[in-house]
Amino acid sequence: MDKPRLFDNHGRIINYLRLAVTDRCNLRCFYCMPEEGIDYVDKDDLMTYEEMERLIRVLVDMGIEKVRITGGEPFVRKDMMPFLQQLSQIEGLKKINITTNGTLTAGLVPELKKMGIHSVNLSLDSLDRDRFFQITRRDVFDKVMQTLEALLEEKIEVKINAVVMEGKNMEDLFLLAEMSRTRPVGIRFIEEMPFNGAGAQSPRLFWDHRQILTYLRAHYPDLEKVQDPPFSTSQNYRIPGAAGTIGIIAAYSRTFCGTCNRIRITPQGMLKTCLYDAGVFNVRDLLRNEATDAQLHDAFLSALGSRAKNGFEAEQRRWENPVGESMSTIGG
Ligand code: SAM
Ligand code: SF4
Repeated sequence: MDKPRLFDNHGRIINYLRLAVTDRCNLRCFYCMPEEGIDYVDKDDLMTYEEMERLIRVLVDMGIEKVRITGGEPFVRKDMMPFLQQLSQIEGLKKINITTNGTLTAGLVPELKKMGIHSVNLSLDSLDRDRFFQITRRDVFDKVMQTLEALLEEKIEVKINAVVMEGKNMEDLFLLAEMSRTRPVGIRFIEEMPFNGAGAQSPRLFWDHRQILTYLRAHYPDLEKVQDPPFSTSQNYRIPGAAGTIGIIAAYSRTFCGTCNRIRITPQGMLKTCLYDAGVFNVRDLLRNEATDAQLHDAFLSALGSRAKNGFEAEQRRWENPVGESMSTIGG
């Protein structure tokens, strides 16, 4: 039987779900959450594991092939490992990836490998303990590094996410890029977005993707462009002879919307067809109202039938409610 394929109203294939399993986090990265934290979602409002599993099964039937588990910090949610194990059994789900801050993950890596977790994105904005603390407001640098080593040891694909921030981690661009010489990791430098949980409006973004590339080229004049994987949000490069790659993600400039293949579901079940939209409908409510699979299909098809063309249009549509929520409530 032909594999199902799901498209939006702009003809873009949709085969990738990012599921935020919690909005809670044990770090306080200043670009994501205020120091005092955010008003966390009540436990009863969170989707249950059973609801999330059903949802994924329905979406896999419709054409989703890859799921990224994110948050908040996925591993602060109790019983995350049995949930991942359940997901790993879903027929037709080709890839399960995870985005984590790596503080609680090191000891779990062999089990993740056994489950067939394909790839882990580790957030690591600095290779310097003090700068790491300044950014995350928690002194757990060693734990993250242990997770990195464990992932490499188990040969799980690793991408390192580093948000580029003036005055905070500019030295780390060079240190992280150097790491790619010897370690087989994808270092990804991300434009800072205004999702800091403080309702803050976007400051002028100085370190946009062009500036980041100019900065890198100044250090590495022979930086080579490498072919980007399909649907990649990063533009990828390599220092000649390096084991790993260096990517730049224009998350705020939104240069990659034309091939966007992803949808997002927040911890309380809100479907977002774009990172910048305010949410389209609540899947959890449908599930709790005993929607049939066919009704769920219809709801997703209808949402994808009026998807914004790009992140700017999505943001415009929500002009009454400008972005400023915490990324931990969306999943990044
Ligand atoms: N807690 C996990 C972690 O940090 O990897 C998963 C969730 S976190 C929200 C997912 C990704 O979003 C992280 O790589 C983080 O750096 C990124 N992120 C959070 N807030 C951001 C912002 N304001 N601008 C750009 N990236 C952001
Ligand atoms: Fe937590 Fe990740 Fe947000 Fe940092 S970026 S506060 S680790 S959810």
